[in-house]
Amino acid sequence: MINPATGEPVGSVPVDSAGDVAAAVARIRANQPAWEALGFKGRRRWLNELRDWLLDNSDRVADTLKAETGKVRAESTIETPYLADQINFYGAKAEKFLGERRVRANSLLDASRKLRLQYRPYPVVGLISPWNFPLVLSLGDAIPALMAGAAVVMKPSEITPLGLNEIVDAWRDEIGGPDVITVVNGGAETATALIDHSDFVGFTGSDVTGKKVMARAAETLTPVSLELGGKDPMVVLDGANLERAANAAAWGGMLNSGQMCISVERIYVEDGAYDEFVERLTSKVEELRQGADAESVACDVGAMTMLSQLEKVEKQVDDAIAGGARALTGGKRGEGPGQWFEPTVLVDVTQEMSVVEDETFGPVVTVTRVADQEEAIRLANDSRYGLSASVFGPRGRAEKVARRIEAGAVNVNDMIFNMLAPGLPMGGWKESGIGYRNGEYGIRKYCRSEAIVSARTLLGSEPLWYPYTPERHKVVQRMTRFIGGRGLRRFR
Ligand code: NAD
Repeated sequence: MINPATGEPVGSVPVDSAGDVAAAVARIRANQPAWEALGFKGRRRWLNELRDWLLDNSDRVADTLKAETGKVRAESTIETPYLADQINFYGAKAEKFLGERRVRANSLLDASRKLRLQYRPYPVVGLISPWNFPLVLSLGDAIPALMAGAAVVMKPSEITPLGLNEIVDAWRDEIGGPDVITVVNGGAETATALIDHSDFVGFTGSDVTGKKVMARAAETLTPVSLELGGKDPMVVLDGANLERAANAAAWGGMLNSGQMCISVERIYVEDGAYDEFVERLTSKVEELRQGADAESVACDVGAMTMLSQLEKVEKQVDDAIAGGARALTGGKRGEGPGQWFEPTVLVDVTQEMSVVEDETFGPVVTVTRVADQEEAIRLANDSRYGLSASVFGPRGRAEKVARRIEAGAVNVNDMIFNMLAPGLPMGGWKESGIGYRNGEYGIRKYCRSEAIVSARTLLGSEPLWYPYTPERHKVVQRMTRFIGGRGLRRFR
């Protein structure tokens, strides 16, 4: 691994072959029943140990993340508190979301049985993750799976595996946790083997790879959840607090160097607010300090973690400028050593340009003037993605606009906050994904439901349906008519 901010080597991990993956899955599969048998309280106790370790070692973990991703210091420290929050949330809620429950009868027919529902985990959950938040998008998704009683194998991005490996080593060697969490390292081949051997696959990454994951999982009918790319729109209405909106656009667009699935990429501004908004946004982006801060918090925008991503961003911006767009600030690569792209504000773009149509995943925002809210909504929804969005404006009108945006989450006069509310589902519409993380669904997806139907004891000695006789047939017909009619309405 190379530090993208300095170009210096920072560590290495061995690549796991398909055979290594099969062995890792078999090992933790054997340990999973004992983990499930611990129950919610027992599993929570172990995860609380992990939470305490993460909080005690957050500086050490942040150093590793900073070195392998090229993030600025402030942004290297936000992953461990997120993980602690997930453990607290699912530790408190897992039993409520997954505990056995009785189901009300629909009619006299099923009222004669006791109806119950239980959730049982997929024994082995395989998680495949990207490089932009190496812990949130691997261990963060492992937490609900572990609370559900599954064992978890994680495959981090081959670009950023160090932080996750460090934590899983600590789980084994320092915390002494059960062998139900493990890591396999490598690229596509390792990931493919993990899909083949897992009972459920949770994938976070690009839509292009997501389609490959779904196709591969289809061969074994393995269920998947897919958290994919985005092209998040921000709508700024007349009457918005433009200082707040410009701050939100600068932060939401440049956070993590724009390498965030829910970062702001396209901004649509109503005519009356456009000039002032663009002026404020440009001056805020111009002031951002880009660089590799060492010990103290001294920079705002870090490096581009992956060289091929930097090249993609550069091409989109170059093509847009060649097509008539203007960079009000930024617009090109920064000086090395390290991989940099200047924080960029583009105007005079068209909807057909790649920088507006395709995910950029870099420190670039485009700003487009629109005549009114209808045009803003139409252009915001004119995308194959639908991950999240934001609307700034007078609250009543902004909320009405928010409800018409086609996305898994919309923040009103706010930015990215939905990710920090674990009770709410987070997932993409359209080609941004299938399924959700967080909330009730974020743990249920790791489980199979099992309906338990018990005959009540008074029915114990009754015959079932055989032998068919004309008399019985008449009774059944009468019963069917009665059930289909009004007689049993109170059950419904
Ligand atoms: P990527 O799709 O290139 O890689 C993601 C993971 O898939 C990596 O671990 C990689 O090794 C693995 N992989 C590669 N080829 C594979 C194959 N054929 N089969 C199975 N796995 C394979 O994505 P990336 O460049 O690491 O991450 C950036 C993307 O992730 C962006 O599109 C971003 O929007 C998306 N993302 C989405 C979310 C979300 O929650 N929706 C969050 C973060 C990032």
